[in-house]
Amino acid sequence: MLKLSVSAVHLCQHCPRLLAYSLDGNGKAWRVGHKGSGNLPGRRFHYIARKVHQDISGRGDQGKRDKLIEAFSNSLNQRNSAVLETIKMEYFYPYLLEHGIKIGPDNAVALGLAMKVWSQYLCSLVAPHLEVGVSTEIIIGMVFQDASPTMESDFKITDGTIVTIRGSTDGILFDLEGKHPVIVEYKGKKASNPTQELIQTALYAQMYHKNTGLFPGVHILYLEEQQPLDQYSVDQIKTIIKGIPLLLERARDVAVGKRPVLKTLDNNLCERCFFHGQCEEKFG
Ligand code: SF4
Repeated sequence: MLKLSVSAVHLCQHCPRLLAYSLDGNGKAWRVGHKGSGNLPGRRFHYIARKVHQDISGRGDQGKRDKLIEAFSNSLNQRNSAVLETIKMEYFYPYLLEHGIKIGPDNAVALGLAMKVWSQYLCSLVAPHLEVGVSTEIIIGMVFQDASPTMESDFKITDGTIVTIRGSTDGILFDLEGKHPVIVEYKGKKASNPTQELIQTALYAQMYHKNTGLFPGVHILYLEEQQPLDQYSVDQIKTIIKGIPLLLERARDVAVGKRPVLKTLDNNLCERCFFHGQCEEKFG
């Protein structure tokens, strides 16, 4: 049975040859495929976001959870600033104190702005329900599900081969309005081909469905964009996941050593790739 990570499948979406390089042990392939175009240090943002999500969902520090719930309990006018202040004081500033020396000024600013966009997003999820007088703790308990759960699922591709896919999404929330779970992914700037990111997230949605029986919607929050939130309904995701078997088949072909390996159609990616001028001879 073949095992692949969601990240490997996503790398294959960028360029099947990059996946082939990475499976050959060449780690530089990841730096080409997953390099963002903005200033946000994604790994650092994800670390802080995961901590907040763990605490507020009751799987981490109870004292910090209480402070976050108190901040969310503020009136509509003050809630955004109170939540942002709590995230800054309890998570962001302590993180900067510990790691700031390794973060460039542009990246630190982008990280701070991302905290603001993100805290506004979190407030928007709970606002309509808090305004009708339900206790903050109950609303928070319902909205904030698992932080970065690792999921694993088996997929059967067209020739009957089973491919096991494993990966961790950025978080699972519950949309009280639509009454369904939501898979959340945090990104910096929108990629030149956002469909790739959507299919990656839809893969998580499909894995969640296989594990729980529930179909989730998808939120992709672009933390460096003016219009940060892209939302996809359950019905849209059901349509998008129909493209997953083809994607897995392509990744499987690379993983089992089938040659030649297709190249990306994205010329911009090739221009900034370490393997420019070499991959044709190796995989073409
Ligand atoms: S140069 Fe282009 S086709 Fe070759 S590995 Fe890099 S991204 Fe893929």
